[in-house]
Amino acid sequence: MRFASLGSGSKGNATLIDDGQTCVLIDLGFTLKETERRLRRLAVDPKNIDAILVTHEHADHIHGVASFARKYKTSVFLTHATYDQKKMGLLPSMKTVNAHQKFEIGTLMIEPVAVPHDAREPCQYIVSSGGHRIGVLTDLGHVTAHVEACYADCHALLLECNHDLQMLEEGPYPYVLKKRVAGDHGHLNNIQAAALLDKIELSLLQHLVISHISEKNNQPELARNAVEPMLKNWSGSLHIAQQEFGFDWIQLSH
Ligand SMILES: [Zn+2]
Ligand SMILES: [Zn+2]
Repeated sequence: MRFASLGSGSKGNATLIDDGQTCVLIDLGFTLKETERRLRRLAVDPKNIDAILVTHEHADHIHGVASFARKYKTSVFLTHATYDQKKMGLLPSMKTVNAHQKFEIGTLMIEPVAVPHDAREPCQYIVSSGGHRIGVLTDLGHVTAHVEACYADCHALLLECNHDLQMLEEGPYPYVLKKRVAGDHGHLNNIQAAALLDKIELSLLQHLVISHISEKNNQPELARNAVEPMLKNWSGSLHIAQQEFGFDWIQLSH
């Protein structure tokens, strides 16, 4: 199993997960043209993407979903309230996700996980195949007991480190937006993300990817400094997902 990112952050997100037989995108926050350019960079033919899983309706996650799906006849999976016909129009193949029920796409098992975020019916996803689990966990205001339990035994984890609390407080955002981002239904800060690492089975975790970093309210080094103390006896690899380049394919080992 392997995974890659087309880009990560408030200007657009898209994660690829591929087990050699089935390839899915989680979210697609880039224009069609930009998506095609970024897929070329990762040597992926858009026609080989079997499905797009949508986490929630914010633009940085759905901007390119409908145009891509219409052009390549890709199936789109999303929760009932996430679909907005005004924004997305008609999709060639739309499947409704129950955020509390696992389902299969080809050879992949998909586990949606409901998260607290200021969207209509947000969920994140854990994708598994061949005994390996890859968890994507961004866009949540706090870590719930449900999230903790679901993500406890992943082999790879893309974890939101959205903001540094001090940078957010002192930064350029208007007060209302600062309150939203830091709130219980906003985004995870570096300290909240680090705290989750204390609750999960690190011996299974091969790769941790710091994701959805705010360009205005965080710095990769601050996020790294926050999580590293939690990884003292850990033998896996730490990566940082970038807005422009995402990250290149990462292969899980057996
Ligand atoms: Zn987002
Ligand atoms: Zn969001």
